[in-house]
Amino acid sequence: MCLHKLVLIAFVVLSSAAQAQEKPNKIQESIELAKTVPIADVHMHTVDRLTSFHKEQMDRNNVKWGGGVGPTGKNPPSTQDMQAALGNRYFFGLGQAEFTQVFFAAGADGLTNANSKSFVDLFKVADNLLETRQAYGFGEIHVDNNNSSPSNNFRRKVTLDNPVVRTMYEIANKHSSFIQIHMEADDANIAALKKYLSEFPKVSTIISHGLPYGKQTLLRDLLDQHPNIYFELSRKGAVLNEKEAGQAFSIRHGVKDIWLKSLEMYPDRFMIGSDTHYPDESKYDDVMTGFRNGLFPYLQPETLKKVAYQNAVKVFRLTE
Ligand SMILES: [Zn+2]
Repeated sequence: MCLHKLVLIAFVVLSSAAQAQEKPNKIQESIELAKTVPIADVHMHTVDRLTSFHKEQMDRNNVKWGGGVGPTGKNPPSTQDMQAALGNRYFFGLGQAEFTQVFFAAGADGLTNANSKSFVDLFKVADNLLETRQAYGFGEIHVDNNNSSPSNNFRRKVTLDNPVVRTMYEIANKHSSFIQIHMEADDANIAALKKYLSEFPKVSTIISHGLPYGKQTLLRDLLDQHPNIYFELSRKGAVLNEKEAGQAFSIRHGVKDIWLKSLEMYPDRFMIGSDTHYPDESKYDDVMTGFRNGLFPYLQPETLKKVAYQNAVKVFRLTE
């Protein structure tokens, strides 16, 4: 055997040993807690099913609260019906229906035009809805899903600092409410995001799907510099994300060490979400099982409770 080969073998053995050491272990107390902890699902869309479909899947999975985003599909249950069935358990996000409507009517350009009729109508009623808690904030606002949308005809990228999103921030700031944004990590997006975070300190900004294409160093910098940013973890598990590189955890492999470190460094700033919608409406149970088995058992018990529901209770001011 030549020296070259020996060096290669030594490298492979050593580096897999290093990897094995870094692989996080489950925590005994958390394994038990993971099975029963209540969940707040902060990325729960309504879909083309009955209200009872949503209520039953929440009940089945001990999901106590759901919302943070808006409707998907052609004929989902109305917000009023969801609120009648779920009461304070449903924390509705404004603007997603309007965003979708404008996008299909006027294309991506329409999304930055605050004079689009749907937005004018929305901004007329938003104050009252937020004031009376018929809505809790704005979301899911798809600003840039160019490389992170499951469906091709839904992709777009618009500049984040635009009159429509800015109006949402102005309104949300008055009510200390939230905006949940689907965006990808690039320099222009991040610069605009930082500007909003500083300009509107009373708005809780939630970044969907843990900021697709964002490195952990970037997430930690943002968390460090801005107390009003949060990340939600829908599509970071393997159930709805088949790209291994984009996953934070899976039942099979557990949580990635680099993600676990971020979660334990900033335990107050991460939340979980389902994001089940067409064609994955039936995967709600699998997604929740993914969190309970692939992520929660690796978190410290206090962190586990925060990520599962306590952070959401604080951010969305949820009540029993
Ligand atoms: Zn979504």
